Amino acid sequence: MRRSLIKILENKGITDKKVLKAINTIPRHYFFDNALLGHAYQDKAFPIGEGQTISQPYTVAFQSEKLEISPNDKVLEIGTGSGYQACVLVEMGANVYTIEYNKVLYERTRKFLPKMGYTPKFFCGDGSKGLPRYAPYDKIIVTAGAPTVPTSLIKQLNINGILIIPVGDSSKQKMLKITKVDEKKLKKEEFDYFSFVPLLGDEGWG
Ligand code: SAM
Repeated sequence: MRRSLIKILENKGITDKKVLKAINTIPRHYFFDNALLGHAYQDKAFPIGEGQTISQPYTVAFQSEKLEISPNDKVLEIGTGSGYQACVLVEMGANVYTIEYNKVLYERTRKFLPKMGYTPKFFCGDGSKGLPRYAPYDKIIVTAGAPTVPTSLIKQLNINGILIIPVGDSSKQKMLKITKVDEKKLKKEEFDYFSFVPLLGDEGWG
């Protein structure tokens, strides 16, 4: 089932071998209750409780590919959720810091991922302001829909660092890739529309 998911992702245009290998390695069904196992390898987002979702595999693959991960990149993920995206980044060789706003999800995922052998660094708090204590980061990925690009996240990027973030309204958001060329210059690329749950907090929807 995992191999057929990989075929679906390739057919949708994902080419990064590291991304495909990571998705082919991680047992996504571990993130689902027994009664819902049949949904684990469909290319769909799925509820994980607390009104939140595990992102669609294509979305995870798309964002991961656009991050252009090199081994040991220091990556900040905003919106830990189920932890699946964090596992993909760890499998790709990144040094992952992940922050979740919802305390229940934070506690659940912080306990669950190490049981699968994945140990990103977990934080609970408002990630719309980034995680300044450990900045700067080589890459930042936002996995919730933002109203605008938070300035704190740009500040916390290294030169040549990449931020991938969906920006828009509550129904759909355009995927943006922002490269910090130097302290004053940003390169902005725009991709397709996606649909995420809202980024809450001070530099999100509040
Ligand atoms: N990356 C997740 C995964 O692999 O399962 C999917 C994330 S889900 C689409 C979005 C997550 O962002 C939710 O868990 C939500 O609680 C979290 N979130 C929303 N606003 C946040 C904020 N300001 N800081 C940190 N997390 C936030």
